[in-house]
Amino acid sequence: MGLFERDTDIYRDRDALREDYQPAELVGRDEELSTYTSALQPVINGEQPNNVFLYGKTGVGKTAATRYLLDHLREDAEEYDDIALDIIFLNCDGLSSSYQVATHLVNELRAEHNQISTTGYPLATVYEMLWEDLDSHGGTVLIVLDEIDNIGDDSILYQLPRARANGKLEDTQVGLIGISNDFSFRDDLSPKVKSSLCENEIHFPAYDATDLKAILKQRADVAFHDGVLEDGVIPLCAAYGAKDAGDARQSIDLLMKAGDVARDDEATTITEDHVDRGRTALERGRIEEGIRGLTEHGHLVLYALVTNDLEGETPIRSRDVRPRYTRFAELAERDPLVPRRMRDHLSELAMLGIISVTERNEGRRGGTYREYELDMPVEQVLSALSETVKLVGVHESVVELAEDAMPDLTTSVASTEGGDETDGEERPEADRSDASLASFE
Ligand code: ADP
Ligand code: MG
Repeated sequence: MGLFERDTDIYRDRDALREDYQPAELVGRDEELSTYTSALQPVINGEQPNNVFLYGKTGVGKTAATRYLLDHLREDAEEYDDIALDIIFLNCDGLSSSYQVATHLVNELRAEHNQISTTGYPLATVYEMLWEDLDSHGGTVLIVLDEIDNIGDDSILYQLPRARANGKLEDTQVGLIGISNDFSFRDDLSPKVKSSLCENEIHFPAYDATDLKAILKQRADVAFHDGVLEDGVIPLCAAYGAKDAGDARQSIDLLMKAGDVARDDEATTITEDHVDRGRTALERGRIEEGIRGLTEHGHLVLYALVTNDLEGETPIRSRDVRPRYTRFAELAERDPLVPRRMRDHLSELAMLGIISVTERNEGRRGGTYREYELDMPVEQVLSALSETVKLVGVHESVVELAEDAMPDLTTSVASTEGGDETDGEERPEADRSDASLASFE
């Protein structure tokens, strides 16, 4: 038997659960699709296309609906000899200004050898190039700007819809489809942009559990072999999805994770237990990502809080976390931050949902203070903090857990005995690249 063996007992087509899979039909979006279809109808009539603005939270089908309808539009337009339709789809993730969007659009319109640099030109020059390239294109060009909430300024959203009226375009009819994941983006648009871009607004509401069940069912039929899913699995994934954000992507991810867990188990069916374990694994991934993205001092503050938590000292005030934090900073050979900056890190941890904050009243004197505690399973936090633990040393409170959370790191103990407020102990010389630090006793 080879090292690799095909294991396809569970999945018929796992790729159907991936982000880039485009379902053949959209489930339960009839009303939105019908409004959207009417907005695009002028293209088929050979008329000046409408501008359309789509908004709604992530994972509610905005991109999928757009791809679905534009595929149909492209196909149906081919039936008419007098329609030359071209569609430019640009995701603005990573583009922070109208300038960048405009240069990307110019390059979309140009051949490989004729591309422009995405920096260095005055904005007006880039727009002139854009109008020229667009107008020499002819026919109808639909420009889709997905995730436009990434763009800091809305100049392009004003310029594109107005280009014809401003005499910049004669031969080409341009329609703009803007898609935003952010509600407030729409409210913040200037009135002149609103009036040109938002002539057709379509709101995609979050999905409820019933919608999600139908979407998951459709996907599961493609992705899994018959009879693999136990009855409760889809309802459970849908219930979690509805509770979280009504986000179809999250629910589909969860279903896939449950399938992966079942496959790792070498199970022949997927159970609700696999869903729960999949959810824990996804959650862990999210926390770890959040924790990894923090700065070094954020890590030190969190490590200090974790050890206090394990000692039963939480909820705890910022000033009581401080000695341990200061001590850890010194062990890591970093200058501790001033109390206020340290508190900022606690607030950031709270914002990320890693810890929770409770506002308390200071008795009769009427002041308030805040108490912090861990809001995540300590093992998970610890496993994401392993680099910090390596740097500082293993605090005695985490020794037991460290074995499971950080298998490569179990031998050393960072003593804080009497050391919290002094810097009495010498940090032993230890090879930083070696996971096992000597004990601090
Ligand atoms: P958005 O663009 O609003 O963030 P997407 O269109 O990317 O969301 O949808 C997220 C995922 O959920 C995609 O995999 C998409 O295919 C799927 N999806 C969303 N809505 C539906 C639907 N109504 N029917 C089938 N699949 C859907
Ligand atoms: Mg999208």
